[in-house]
Amino acid sequence: MLVTCSHCPRCMQCETKFDFITRKHHCRRCGKCYCDKCCSKKVPLPRMCFVDPVRQCAECALMSQKETEFYDRQLKVLMAGATFLVTAEPSEKSETMVCRLSNNHRYLFLDGGNHYEIEVARISSVQILTEGFTPGGGNTRANGMLLQYKVSGSEDFKQMKFTSCEDVNCNKKLSASWLAAMHKAAKLLYESLDQ
Ligand SMILES: [Zn+2]
Ligand SMILES: [Zn+2]
Repeated sequence: MLVTCSHCPRCMQCETKFDFITRKHHCRRCGKCYCDKCCSKKVPLPRMCFVDPVRQCAECALMSQKETEFYDRQLKVLMAGATFLVTAEPSEKSETMVCRLSNNHRYLFLDGGNHYEIEVARISSVQILTEGFTPGGGNTRANGMLLQYKVSGSEDFKQMKFTSCEDVNCNKKLSASWLAAMHKAAKLLYESLDQ
């Protein structure tokens, strides 16, 4: 992903010319060339397994900071899991399942009578369903999710519907925060694909 830099004579942000005084630095995230001023932030880059903070340009630093925040908070929620009524479409039957992110963050495990593993990299869309919408714009709470993913070894898409269950054994608050974490994860995934 690193761009070769022998051809870039100027900082790609402020356009200062590089010379003996203005040294060239590479952002460790996007690999573009910047002057010291424009690439001065050192932030952890969890995605690339850098343990120590590395030099990144302003735009990437912001993105990495968001990711770190995400890693710290949301992953814990996703890994702890929550209970949902899961419908694997086109089937009409729904099943109560515990959904959680695997320890290596690569799969969504769904456990009930059946066991499903959905590879996170194959998730193509996440749509959060909400309840409690008022025309004036009151508080809404996530109560479900439509997940679309590519079946492994095939080009077919499958859709699964997750709904917070009404029964007393289910913790609605927990499932709402799990869905919120999933929503943030999906946004982050698409932002990083966009770059
Ligand atoms: Zn960058
Ligand atoms: Zn610069």
